Amino acid sequence: MVASEIRALFAVASRPEIVSLAGGMPSVSALPLDVVGEMLGELTARRGSEALQYGSAQGDPELRERICEVMALEGVRASADDVVVTVGSQQGLDLLARIFVDPGDVVVAEAPSYVGALGTFAAYQAEVAHVPLDDAGLIPAALRETLGRLRREGRRVKFLYTVPNFHNPAGVTLSAARRAEVLDICAAHDVLVVEDNPYGLLGFDEAPLRALRADDADRVIYLGSFSKTFAPGFRIGWVLAPHAVRAKLVLAAESAMLSHSNLSQFAVREYLATQPWKQQIKAFRELYRERRDTMLDSLADLMPEGCAWTRPAGGFYVWLTLPEGLDAKAMAPRAIAARVAYVPGTGFYADGTGHRHMRLSYCYPEPARIREGVRRLAAVVEQELSL
Ligand code: PMP
Repeated sequence: MVASEIRALFAVASRPEIVSLAGGMPSVSALPLDVVGEMLGELTARRGSEALQYGSAQGDPELRERICEVMALEGVRASADDVVVTVGSQQGLDLLARIFVDPGDVVVAEAPSYVGALGTFAAYQAEVAHVPLDDAGLIPAALRETLGRLRREGRRVKFLYTVPNFHNPAGVTLSAARRAEVLDICAAHDVLVVEDNPYGLLGFDEAPLRALRADDADRVIYLGSFSKTFAPGFRIGWVLAPHAVRAKLVLAAESAMLSHSNLSQFAVREYLATQPWKQQIKAFRELYRERRDTMLDSLADLMPEGCAWTRPAGGFYVWLTLPEGLDAKAMAPRAIAARVAYVPGTGFYADGTGHRHMRLSYCYPEPARIREGVRRLAAVVEQELSL
């Protein structure tokens, strides 16, 4: 295990004079906090003897029913029996790696990939084989080529790890045509797919995209989370897995943590049952869309020539590529000195590449701060180019 570059950055980036485009923190202050507070008070007052007691490792059955209703928005038909509640989807990743990965096994993942997943795979000594993505997500031909090569080399591929919607960190979305292709290729190679989808309901333009899991219930393991659609503080996510995998996940969860927090689970359950949660998601989407627009407009107005960036249709992140010869990691201290923070690209690759890239988040700062942050960043890049 190694320290995450993002965690190290957070300590510096949280200083008030710095505009942080680094963290991926949801804007929880947009929630009706008084209502949530009342709900929590009620729960302990009315149902405290249950809410404050040990629960189960698979998770509260009624919450799992509600989770199935949430996934139905993406075309997923599932039984609550096959849902395992997790401590955020991060625990889902950990449990999956725990049950699937032996040291030296291969996990195939996009280049770049979510840093928290790479950290988990490394902790279980998986080897990550990266497959490139472009503006339409993971590139099927490259996936086919990589799986073919790994097969010829006799390597054991445990699964494809993918974030199909509003990718962290790349900001891109897997197109509908590619979804079918990716499933076909994984079927041909008999490889499982881990679909990590915390941002799927945070699209700005269209109805939610159909989940990979909706079209292949036997091959796809789906990870979901309430961190971005409600609040990360409850630490409630889930895994929807084929039957046999689900049973192992529950055993792994029991040994990892005995039981979930009933209080957190009841809070999310109550929120879904009694609050206008779809309206709240809509409000989040509008808030993030405005910030995305501000970031894209500011980049277009201010960044020097030679920079390129993705145009996310949802989620939290823009992926920026610097002009040839510049190094986002080496530049980071100079950006901090100029009072702007971002995450250098290198953390999102298991192979140490990614020096020309950076992740910019627009989810947390107010629009005026986003513009100021981009202005400072553009000045730093100008400076580097003139060196
Ligand atoms: N997967 C992805 C792609 C993420 O971006 C995150 C959070 N940044 C997670 C998983 C973990 O989220 P949580 O544990 O809060 O559900």
